[in-house]
Amino acid sequence: MPGLKLIQPTAGVLRVQPHVYRRSEHPISRRAINPNALKVLYRLKQAGFRACLVGGCVRDLLLGREPKDFDVVTDAHPEQVRALFRNCRLVGRRFRLAHICFGQEIVEVATFRATAAPGREGDWVQEESGRLLRDNVFGTIEEDAFRRDFTANALYYDIADFSVIDYVGGMEDLQRGVLRLIGDPELRYREDPVRMLRAVRLMTKLGFVLDPACAEPIKKLAPLLAGVSPARLYEEVLKLFLSGLAVQNFEWLRHYGLFEFLFPTTEKALSSEYQGFPSTFLVRALEAADRRLSEGKPVTPYFLYATLLWEPVRLEFERHLAQGVAPAVAMQEAASTILTEQQRHVAIARRVALPMREVWLLQPRLERCQGSRPLKLLAHPRFRAGYDFLLLRCAAGEVAPEIGEWWAEFQQVGEDRRREMLSGVQRKRRRRSKARRASMFPSQSCSGLSPSSG
Ligand code: ATP
Ligand code: MG
Repeated sequence: MPGLKLIQPTAGVLRVQPHVYRRSEHPISRRAINPNALKVLYRLKQAGFRACLVGGCVRDLLLGREPKDFDVVTDAHPEQVRALFRNCRLVGRRFRLAHICFGQEIVEVATFRATAAPGREGDWVQEESGRLLRDNVFGTIEEDAFRRDFTANALYYDIADFSVIDYVGGMEDLQRGVLRLIGDPELRYREDPVRMLRAVRLMTKLGFVLDPACAEPIKKLAPLLAGVSPARLYEEVLKLFLSGLAVQNFEWLRHYGLFEFLFPTTEKALSSEYQGFPSTFLVRALEAADRRLSEGKPVTPYFLYATLLWEPVRLEFERHLAQGVAPAVAMQEAASTILTEQQRHVAIARRVALPMREVWLLQPRLERCQGSRPLKLLAHPRFRAGYDFLLLRCAAGEVAPEIGEWWAEFQQVGEDRRREMLSGVQRKRRRRSKARRASMFPSQSCSGLSPSSG
């Protein structure tokens, strides 16, 4: 690591001279710090404890970005923190943390931690693979710095003198735009394979280059993701794909061979071409999600997961159709198969899985615009999401664009025009029903168009 002076590397104990950047040597102003986080820092300091901001917030403040959350670290133990704050509760098993609540806002306070190591006292459990299951060994600030993931994430803003303390060369890496793991990359990924996902997410978020030594082992170690709890991966996937940088993250995840361990059925579907063309649905859907987020519009987790798994669901759906199964049943079967398989890798809670299924089940129904069906569909609680999803499929060339246009008009017009549209459709559908039955998408068109005519 650049600029470091190792003083006394005794067994398991670090002795490193940090680089201390005085207030005049860095741009962090207290005005940019969340007032509740400041209150917590001052209270700890007044009680005689050491108190610093650390991690993403210091990194972001130094880069002139607005931090997402303000994490406080201290040498006070969790019980001592609780004794200082009325509005405090202790949480977490793998990490014991104090949450100080200010209305809706929570300031997280952690005690300095050391890396668990053989012979080291404390409450920690490590698997044979190197993965840490419990990690509650308290330590010094420098030990705390070395157990963080990236150098840019291991800078401390000390409330005692407003300095920034750097044990790992993080400031230089920040200035050069390099994301670098602290210590031996392979070892650090083995301890916690989620760091590979964090590498991708932070590199795109910050616009940084991943240090080549940290990039190199990822392909080989990607299979370690299979050992990470599906619930934790669910959260990481949301961070990767609801960040506004979903397309970039998706491309890097595939580049490093990580995506296939998050979404194996999707990866397989993407590698197989559909009717001679590689599918563009997912990339277009992720582009649309990024665009929505940049416009301040929400993207729900269920809609995101519905798009991430659509390719394999569609292939499975078509397989059932080819066997003569009715579209509604084929979609139910496809949804169940893919969801069950996916749950082995990334946990999807029922509250997310149910609306996802509904969006998928609506797809064949939205392609049939006849009789009283469209009116019933308009009243469906998931209609809007199902329609938005249909538009993504239209944009990807999977469904004739006229179907999307038909629905756009149908939603806007009055009763008379709706009746006209429905009857017009019925007449056309009768004329074209033979051609439709021959198509892979039996109900491909509201107006009797075949997929290729779109
Ligand atoms: P974001 O801005 O997206 O919140 P972040 O770096 O703050 O990014 P958090 O998940 O909030 O990410 O983590 C806070 C800090 O905790 C990190 O900056 C890092 O120092 C440390 N950290 C988080 N995850 C790990 C990990 N898997 N291994 C080691 N340290 C970690
Ligand atoms: Mg953070």
